[in-house]
Amino acid sequence: MDTRFNDELRQWYVENAQPRRAQRGGRVRISALTYRALVDDWVERELACPRCGARALVRRPPVREEDEVANCDCQACGSEFYLIDAYLPMRGRAHCNSYRGMLGCIEAGTTPDVMCLQYDREASGVIDLFVVPGTCLRKEHLALGIMGEPEEGHDTWCDIEIGRLRHELEDGAIVDILREGRQIGSNEVVRRMHEADALG
Ligand SMILES: [Zn+2]
Repeated sequence: MDTRFNDELRQWYVENAQPRRAQRGGRVRISALTYRALVDDWVERELACPRCGARALVRRPPVREEDEVANCDCQACGSEFYLIDAYLPMRGRAHCNSYRGMLGCIEAGTTPDVMCLQYDREASGVIDLFVVPGTCLRKEHLALGIMGEPEEGHDTWCDIEIGRLRHELEDGAIVDILREGRQIGSNEVVRRMHEADALG
């Protein structure tokens, strides 16, 4: 797995597709649109499916329906995932616009696996990546505020603190793919997903 984002694509987006370019201390501020394009490209190019190990993940277009949760599919095994992403070293807060949908899935026992991806602010590459198997995600995790309180009047979305989610679910309920520079092989990820399912 190459953890770097596509530098040419990054350059193109910064120069041609960002609504505004802003220089701060000689650094280019990366827009949400650019992050999204780079993450989509990287996931489809480098990331193996945590459920079957195939490199066959495809991102769906940005979620429009408030109750739609899954935003990434495996074309090989048909698994669905909810991918959230944020940049470090800030607080790693990821925007979740499927809060109500997530609650519904947890209540129905149909929660998709949640992939949590963090990259550096300059968008040069992925720093941290893990999966919370849907079998391990509970309603109380939302109620405890791990995923943050939804904004008043906006109960369809909230911010997720990825680092806190990792901390709270550390004991076997998360499956690492990339952590502190260490990459976990796709076969081992698939095996650990099964182990986590058994725990959940
Ligand atoms: Zn798969």
